[in-house]
Amino acid sequence: MTALLATHQDLIETDAHPIPEDCLLLAPDVIPALSLDRVYKLFGSRRRVRAALAAIASGARSDRETLKSAHGVFAALAGVDLHVATREILVIVGASGSGKSTLIRHMNGLIHPSHGRVAVAGEPLDCMPRRAMQRLRATQVGMVFQSTSLFPHRTVIDNVAFGLEVKGMARDARYALARLWLDRVELSKWANHYPAELSGGMQQRVGLARTFAPDPETLLLDEPFSALDPILRRSLQDQFLALVGAFQKTAVFVTHDFAEAVRLADRIAVMAEGRIVQLGTPRELVFHPTSSYVASFATPEIRRSLMCAADIAAGRERVRLQETSSACLLGDAPLADVVARLQREDICLHIKGVDDQTIGWIDRHVLLQHVGEMLCTQTPF
Ligand code: ADP
Ligand code: MG
Repeated sequence: MTALLATHQDLIETDAHPIPEDCLLLAPDVIPALSLDRVYKLFGSRRRVRAALAAIASGARSDRETLKSAHGVFAALAGVDLHVATREILVIVGASGSGKSTLIRHMNGLIHPSHGRVAVAGEPLDCMPRRAMQRLRATQVGMVFQSTSLFPHRTVIDNVAFGLEVKGMARDARYALARLWLDRVELSKWANHYPAELSGGMQQRVGLARTFAPDPETLLLDEPFSALDPILRRSLQDQFLALVGAFQKTAVFVTHDFAEAVRLADRIAVMAEGRIVQLGTPRELVFHPTSSYVASFATPEIRRSLMCAADIAAGRERVRLQETSSACLLGDAPLADVVARLQREDICLHIKGVDDQTIGWIDRHVLLQHVGEMLCTQTPF
């Protein structure tokens, strides 16, 4: 893990409203799949929490440190605003203790906020009756945990069929569907075994099948692959992406591994000290971090993986303009494509935008120069 603990100085920068409006993918009239508005989760005596919330309401600072020193309460969440669009994959990253699990557990009502509003598809959770909430968890907002939390006394197929049972599906139909899902995660042969007989990776695949089977609109995943080795983790990430894409799900995925976040996310929310300190696409976070904390996540390898032809070609319009070349590449082509092309031929690549406008040119010299700059570039912090 590359994340460093946030310094107090970093967080001071973010004490204002942490989410720029233009980071939201949503049009104003579209109901988000999930929304959290000004959510606080404070731990402490009831009296202290009430006093702290009153102080926040009257404009006092609401960062963790202030809430601790001035009011003796611990802010697991210190004012979180987050809207997740339908069919978006939003990944939450942050150091241990930053509030990731607390945040995701608010999204299906496992934890209630001390203050603020959580809504699923526009429906507030705070006034939802207990049974409706249980139904929501079993059928509308599925959750996968780091330790799979499979029922140990139920067979694999019974685990997968569980949500379907809650949904009221008839026995034959639910076992047929559970079998189909076990097939999708390539575990049909293990249907009648118990979870303890399966490896960690297999258990996580059962967890995925169990969560997808009732066809929830939204999936919440709290570090589901963190305990697995890197190769297994990658294959489960692929499987997850394929399933989310094929079944058009909305997903919120927690991880402490920024490379995993970059691989999976449409947008990433970076958390520190109970707050979202930056929210944006992987490229926005990696190439335009707003604090040293966020910058610390992006390793050279991650920067390389997100680099595209336009990043190299931009501002290189003057390079060998006299030369004409029929070899074209789109600006969003990954760096690997540029390298592969120039490895094969010593040519000058014409980089174009989708509108056919010239972005610039890249030849071997420009590529080498760029790689050199990239290796030496310091972050602005
Ligand atoms: P993360 O998932 O990012 O590691 P968590 O959301 O689990 O962090 O926890 C955030 C902080 O809130 C941690 O410092 C944790 O100790 C604290 N916390 C979580 N639950 C409780 C609780 N029930 N009582 C007191 N503190 C808690
Ligand atoms: Mg956690």
